[in-house]
Amino acid sequence: MSTDCIFCKIIKGELKAKFVYENDKVVVIEDINPQAPVHILIIPRKHIATPMEIEDNDKDILSAVFQAARHVAKERKIDSSGFRTVLNCMEGAGQSVFHIHFHLLGGRQMQWPPG
Ligand code: AMP
Ligand code: ZN
Repeated sequence: MSTDCIFCKIIKGELKAKFVYENDKVVVIEDINPQAPVHILIIPRKHIATPMEIEDNDKDILSAVFQAARHVAKERKIDSSGFRTVLNCMEGAGQSVFHIHFHLLGGRQMQWPPG
């Protein structure tokens, strides 16, 4: 837990967000600045600053991330059309919030390569 982390504050209920789903390992919220018709963030409850800080015993968290992704993809009806999950690692990749979160993007055709 980090006191000045916006995602820790959202998880603790100190900052408002549109919750989509949650379980004991992750919370899922709407991205405040959506880049696709479906753009949600899957955020582990544990404060992990970047993907470089993920530990071997965080397996349960990563499993919960993709369980949540499957759940929301079905709910938003993008489980057949497809979706993209993005995990940005540090500034060079565009990470701006230093509490790991998986973007789940869908509802439109995704392009490759990403910018
Ligand atoms: P990243 O650049 O990968 O670190 O992604 C951070 C994401 O968090 C961006 O897509 C932002 O739009 C989103 N974001 C930042 N603050 C909030 C917030 N308070 N509620 C929801 N999404 C947020
Ligand atoms: Zn945090």
